[in-house]
Amino acid sequence: MSKTITEPAKNIPVIGEYDIAVLGGGPAGLAAAVAAGRRGFAAVLIERHGFLGGMGTAAGVSNFCGLYANYFGEQVQVVRGVADELLDRIDRLGGLNAPHLCAGKINARAYDIPAYKFAADELVLGAGTKLIFHALAVGVIKGTDDTLDALLLETKSGRVAVRARMFIDASGDGDLAAWAGAPFEKGDGAGNSLYPSTMFRMNGIDPEKAGDAWTKIPGLMREAEERGDFKFPRHGAIVRPQRNPIEWRANITQIHDDNGNAIDGANGESLSEGEIIGRNQVKETFRFLRTVPGFEHSYISEIAPQIGIRETRRIMGDYVLTEDDVLSCVDFEDTIGRNSWPIEAHVQGDVHWHWQDIPNVRGYNQLPYRMMLPVGIDNLFVVGRCASMTHHAQSAARVTGACFVMGEAAGEAATLALNSNNSTRSIDQATLRERLERNGVLL
Ligand SMILES: Cc1cc2nc3c(=O)[nH]c(=O)nc-3n(C[C@H](O)[C@H](O)[C@H](O)COP(=O)(O)OP(=O)(O)OC[C@H]3O[C@@H](n4cnc5c(N)ncnc54)[C@H](O)[C@@H]3O)c2cc1C
Repeated sequence: MSKTITEPAKNIPVIGEYDIAVLGGGPAGLAAAVAAGRRGFAAVLIERHGFLGGMGTAAGVSNFCGLYANYFGEQVQVVRGVADELLDRIDRLGGLNAPHLCAGKINARAYDIPAYKFAADELVLGAGTKLIFHALAVGVIKGTDDTLDALLLETKSGRVAVRARMFIDASGDGDLAAWAGAPFEKGDGAGNSLYPSTMFRMNGIDPEKAGDAWTKIPGLMREAEERGDFKFPRHGAIVRPQRNPIEWRANITQIHDDNGNAIDGANGESLSEGEIIGRNQVKETFRFLRTVPGFEHSYISEIAPQIGIRETRRIMGDYVLTEDDVLSCVDFEDTIGRNSWPIEAHVQGDVHWHWQDIPNVRGYNQLPYRMMLPVGIDNLFVVGRCASMTHHAQSAARVTGACFVMGEAAGEAATLALNSNNSTRSIDQATLRERLERNGVLL
């Protein structure tokens, strides 16, 4: 029997013609959609889920990293602009936690997922950008060799197309850019990537009894393993309270295949398998967590709707951000903003941190405009965790703060490119930086 089926050719209805189309509503995509919509261009944001936030909501992350830097030993916020507006809205909805120290060195901020969803909807729609939910992008139609003309979407009402003059790929997986023929790398180049995790949250914790259990849980896990009571998928557990301290999040699982390699988040079969492995790990690690003082009466209030994917494709651009750029707090002439997160490598069975030389340095590097320009395509930006970075640099600049930065810059730049022959490479860089600074972005 044949292993393939030929789908008959059919005409696809074009449901919209836009100036700017953004694929993916994670932190990078929503920041891009806000910046693009505000300049009065017809912009659309396309998302396969029924809500925004990307891994931050769909994968249950519920914690902002990369907004603060350890600046010569002080905690200083270095990512602003759209990020500030989103956080203000989440805060007004009562959903933002005070900053907490992560890994003993750098601030992060936990948030309530429903508040993030409300705030993101309001912000994107308020910018005049159209939202299309429940639409999975499945392919592209090219205009010329180096331009894109349309994006093909699979929806409940069948396959449709959206046309645009400028595109922003914020899919996290570089779907659009890869289909358009842009070169990409995957993981460490030897068949492995940062390991995914299935996140979950627990409710019913006794905050007084639990105290600062987040400092003790990794040690308790090692002891439980040594006694032979449990076998955990990884060390370096991150289990912390949310805004309401009876609720805690657990970033504790690690999903791999039978060979020990990270499951592939850009492969349908692998993703499906990963969901089942992830939930089994949640069940087992929760059995352990119930033994932690203060957690005896806790229950799982949510297993994230989807497995949390840290890394798949990284689209190669005009510049590739490196680990050395991150660790040496480098500057770029074409800066679009800052990354302050260190290398947080989710390796087999553990999490390895590599820090900038803090507290002796300013604790952040600049991000160059060129890392958003995929080689060979002229009307497309690639932003967020699939932007042009090495495997190690991605383990830093993949976190939410840097994704907001890239998204906002691409949204603004797309509007400038529409006035420059639709070319991402011929925009006026000085105007871009001026606009970003006016938005409050720290370059
Ligand atoms: C388990 C885990 C824990 C993490 N912990 C933290 C943390 O504590 N703090 C932090 O700041 N960061 C954390 N991160 C990293 C961070 O959440 C992500 O790297 C960040 O969300 C990336 O943003 P993004 O916009 O590039 O992509 P994503 O957040 O992945 O968003 C991409 C969006 O595109 C949509 N999409 C993808 N493909 C298609 C398609 N073909 N058609 C339509 N829509 C599509 C997706 O549904 C998604 O909404 C964590 C990540 C994981 C997985």
